[in-house]
Amino acid sequence: MKVTFTAKLKLRHSPEQKIALDAVTLAYRDALNHTSRVAFEQNKMSSAMKLQTLTYTGIRETFDLPSQMACNVPRQVAATNKGLWTKLKQHNDRQAQIITVKPKRRFRPFRGFDAPAKYVSRTLTYNFGRDFSWKKGQQVSVQTLEGRQVMAYEGYAAHLKHIEAGCKIGAAKLYYQRGKRQYYLLVSFEVDLPDPQPADHKTVVGVDVGQRYHAVVTDTRDRSLFFSGQAINQKKGCFEAVRKTLQRKGTRSATRRLIAFSGRERRFIADRNHSLAAQILNAYPEAVIGLENLKDIRERVGPHTRTKADKTAKVAGGSEQAKAEKRRKNNRRRSQWSFAELQTFIAYKAPFKGSMAVQVDAHYTSQQCVKCGHTSKQNRPGSGLLFVCEVCGFQVHADLLGARNIALRTLAVRQDWTATGALSVRPDVSDKEAKAARLLRYAELRWSPDTSP
Ligand SMILES: [Zn+2]
Repeated sequence: MKVTFTAKLKLRHSPEQKIALDAVTLAYRDALNHTSRVAFEQNKMSSAMKLQTLTYTGIRETFDLPSQMACNVPRQVAATNKGLWTKLKQHNDRQAQIITVKPKRRFRPFRGFDAPAKYVSRTLTYNFGRDFSWKKGQQVSVQTLEGRQVMAYEGYAAHLKHIEAGCKIGAAKLYYQRGKRQYYLLVSFEVDLPDPQPADHKTVVGVDVGQRYHAVVTDTRDRSLFFSGQAINQKKGCFEAVRKTLQRKGTRSATRRLIAFSGRERRFIADRNHSLAAQILNAYPEAVIGLENLKDIRERVGPHTRTKADKTAKVAGGSEQAKAEKRRKNNRRRSQWSFAELQTFIAYKAPFKGSMAVQVDAHYTSQQCVKCGHTSKQNRPGSGLLFVCEVCGFQVHADLLGARNIALRTLAVRQDWTATGALSVRPDVSDKEAKAARLLRYAELRWSPDTSP
């Protein structure tokens, strides 16, 4: 099984090397913007070949880029345009579909092609062997306008091990973090891992994410971990307060601060998620790890049902109530995203620990009794911390119940895997019938302290 990873390498650049990297990334960005304008004038061209013929000489002469990089510029612009064409097509298809049902419906026009795509951040693409290569003693050589620069790098130990062992290297992206005045090289590499076998994944784990506990993890032998969400919620509250003041101020410098600030918040959450993922994977090695399909949770919460209060808020327009509603929505979106990130990190790091992640339905994981299968909202009296089954009286911490249900569903996935040899990493959620059958099966799953596989 070939798996592609991306290693984030921190470059140890000297002040002179930083100047060289600044020069090449800025030249590359200017070349991208120039090429983007040309492509835009040529009917939003998306053919890399044609665009290259049109712009290559100009890029070489005007921006002084080395030949390989000058080839990457039109390729990148063409890819951006191709993406936009696809989006436009999807946009039109969607409209055509809706218009058959609601002929009078008006649509917002597609804005992607209003102006040439603008490239703002300093990034550039390197090709392995052509304009970047490894040097002895954990060093990398990268192309700049003033020839090659050799510098040391740091990174995640598991990644470095593979790179040193000489795995297959793909393209790399040079990326600049402004706050830290630091360049990183994002290198994609391919590792050939042995195909996972059920026998090598004896532990079955469920991971439940939520507000109160950022994550609750349990395996089928009832070894559980609780990761409090308090610290992260508090910090989020702080960020929220600062964001509010800055937004209210609304000056240009406030907007600038706001952008820097959102980056800091994102990195804080990413740090926390990285550490959580590592702790979870270390606690349960060689495991099948079940993650909830977060899309189901959104469905479970249901489409935002408009209450009377909402309607009056809409009429009042920009009233405090409407703002509060918007804020709540934003918060929900933000936490959904931070949960999705945690899952991505777990899934991504799992193969390094001999584990693998699978996705399971999240429907009713907080309402279904693991002792008798009874599913009801009333199993959560007062929506409190405790789950109490209406039918059998079984009591358990509400968040742990979610994790147990997910672990049980993951166990079902593993049983299928053992029986059929095929692994459905992600159940097909689009098929209503299959979903109903699956939910029926989940209702038969029972928890016992030694539900060992
Ligand atoms: Zn029960």
